[in-house]
Amino acid sequence: MTSLTADSTSPDSRSDAVVLFGVSGDLAYKKLLPALYNLERAGRLDGPVIGLARSAWDDERLRARAEGAVRDAATQVDEAALARLLGRLRMLAGEYTETATYEALAAMLADTARPLFHLAVPPVVFESVVAGLNAVGLADRGRVVVEKPFGRDAASAAELNTALTRYVDEQNIFRIDHYLGKESVEGLLVFRFANTLFEPLWNRHYVKSVQVTLAESLDTEGRAGFYDGVGAVRDVVQNHLLQIVALLGMEPPIADDADAYRDEEVRLLRQVRPIDPDDTVMGQYEGYGEEDGVAPGSITETFMATTLWIDSFRWAGVPFHVRAGKALAGAATEAVVELRRPPRLLFASKSAERPEANRLHFRLGHDDGVSVTLQAKAPGAKAVSQPVALGVDFDRALGHRQEAYERLLDDAMDGRKHRFARPDTIAEEWRIVDGLLAAGKEPELYRRGTWGPAAAAKVADPWHPVTT
Ligand code: NDP
Repeated sequence: MTSLTADSTSPDSRSDAVVLFGVSGDLAYKKLLPALYNLERAGRLDGPVIGLARSAWDDERLRARAEGAVRDAATQVDEAALARLLGRLRMLAGEYTETATYEALAAMLADTARPLFHLAVPPVVFESVVAGLNAVGLADRGRVVVEKPFGRDAASAAELNTALTRYVDEQNIFRIDHYLGKESVEGLLVFRFANTLFEPLWNRHYVKSVQVTLAESLDTEGRAGFYDGVGAVRDVVQNHLLQIVALLGMEPPIADDADAYRDEEVRLLRQVRPIDPDDTVMGQYEGYGEEDGVAPGSITETFMATTLWIDSFRWAGVPFHVRAGKALAGAATEAVVELRRPPRLLFASKSAERPEANRLHFRLGHDDGVSVTLQAKAPGAKAVSQPVALGVDFDRALGHRQEAYERLLDDAMDGRKHRFARPDTIAEEWRIVDGLLAAGKEPELYRRGTWGPAAAAKVADPWHPVTT
């Protein structure tokens, strides 16, 4: 097997403790505790797992919470692994701003060499936490994982970065955009660079357009208070969607190390023009304005569609249509690469008889896979073509793959940085969306269960059907 991300760390530098700040929260329950259970099952955990929060929990309360999280997430629970994980858990209740919290934490970590600190708390708390760790000497020897959002715009992202790097060496900061941890998303690079079949076609000469869709059928699910003022662009476009575009468009890394890999992502993003608000459709589903926590007259977008242009030799003139939204007709994370059509079918001269385009259709969500629309001869007397799909379902073909958070925590514990966002990547992503956000474009209302405002249909004509 050929590796994209060689393991360059020595075993003795692996983290020997995990501290979850904000362990009482949603992310810890849904993703982090189940990921730690998977790592325990794989024999990848060592040392204590400490939960830290202001909530006045004790060890038993934390263990009950962790057990609930694991049983909710796993279809079949390995009881021995769960018991081992519960045995490692310790709770530390305290304020994020008080030195006493960090002194108690340092005492609990006295026998460890390389703790991992996962900041599953709102970004307003990040600076207090790293300052607190620094005050007791933990920032120097630990690794710090932070979650998106990385700021609200380029300026605030730079400020956040300055605050983090004041206390923690860049080498020990791991910024999670969990899309980079998805096997399916990383699979785009393997598909492109491990298959001679497609790579020669991957350019403006053969590709007509690219479409990327990140659609949710769910609405804000009672979290409108969090979502309002954030919106689709900050929530998923600036990070996840631009990462997908970068992986679809970038050049092959020149070496198997974290910086070579991320250099190419940044190089691609640097060539993406800032989004033009006039070419962008912003939408808001009907009824959003009445949800709890939404400001009166809110113009927060729950949908956006636009076309990105990449001014590179490879991609000049090829539109990358992207859209993302909530309460849509289906849930899908997909990319479609459409090739140019042949000029005619065999000896036919009428344009109506041109074969349809070949399309590569990448499914990047839970049912990940890829299909290629080919043209076959339609049955019958006439030599006309008919589209047929050639597809593979990766779950069936490859078996179980790891969850993003399991891979990302495992990487961070080993100090591997390939799958973590770098500050220059984040700065480029903000550069692309900042002008659009600053324009404060009024969203158009759309009905739930549709594909967004009618005007979105004009951004890509047509939007290829997604698998829902
Ligand atoms: P929560 O809002 O659930 O907060 C996590 C914990 O942080 C809370 O349980 C609370 O613990 C503490 N907390 C909340 N607000 C404050 C505050 N103002 N000051 C101090 N402590 C506070 O967040 P999530 O778990 O949803 O997310 C954690 C981080 O991960 C955030 O940065 C979020 O943006 C990011 N993220 C979350 C995702 C998700 O699916 N939930 C997805 C991607 C990123 P206590 O009061 O007990 O200290």
